[in-house]
Amino acid sequence: MKQAQQIKITVLIDNNPGPKPLITRWGLSLFVEVNNIAFLFDTGPDPEALEYNANAIGINLDKIEFIIISHMHFDHFGGLSYFLNKKPDITIYFPEDHYIVSQIGSKGPRVVVTSNAINKISENMYIVKFKHFIIEQCVIINTAVGLIMLVGCSHPKIEQMSTYIYEHFKRKIYAVIGGFHLGSDITRLKRIIETFRRIGVQEVYPLHCSGDVAREFFEIHLKQVYKDGHVGTKIVIP
Ligand SMILES: [Zn+2]
Ligand SMILES: [Zn+2]
Repeated sequence: MKQAQQIKITVLIDNNPGPKPLITRWGLSLFVEVNNIAFLFDTGPDPEALEYNANAIGINLDKIEFIIISHMHFDHFGGLSYFLNKKPDITIYFPEDHYIVSQIGSKGPRVVVTSNAINKISENMYIVKFKHFIIEQCVIINTAVGLIMLVGCSHPKIEQMSTYIYEHFKRKIYAVIGGFHLGSDITRLKRIIETFRRIGVQEVYPLHCSGDVAREFFEIHLKQVYKDGHVGTKIVIP
């Protein structure tokens, strides 16, 4: 497994507010640059908010080579219509053969429904799919400091997803970035912290549906590891 040299992740859409004039929307979208390739992980719910925030941050959405959709919830794929209008031949990776996927496919893009649990998409990147009552996929990027894990809502449970990836790739997970879909169950939050420690996590950005209780709990109990993420946050992997 080759290592990516330069990784930059910008939070384009998140429900955690950031600096003005960025728009806050319920949902998630990450603009990811790996070496010289730019792609989007989820699109948020709203094509206008996506375009507005990209312009405000200074990101050129035309540079995006492909899009990965984590799961078929509107707050993750609703922004796709921006690309159906502006870049109709783009490649989009979906986690399942949902009726929305055939609707989108009929509008022009190259649609790929990931077929395996582990899908290699480049020499240093994988899409890992989890079978759950909500089918969800995450992105794994291999770097010199460990694996980078991008998640949408983590419906199949962040502690189980990250443990599976750690055991499959036999490599530490350096950073976990995205929505964790957590409530206020402190026993579970403690278990997640134990998991993150065991698998070597050094940076955690709980975004989107992670919730304020979890964010505050991680901030207190995962000092130095917890990072305050919100719309506009730029993450550079060393
Ligand atoms: Zn969501
Ligand atoms: Zn969801």
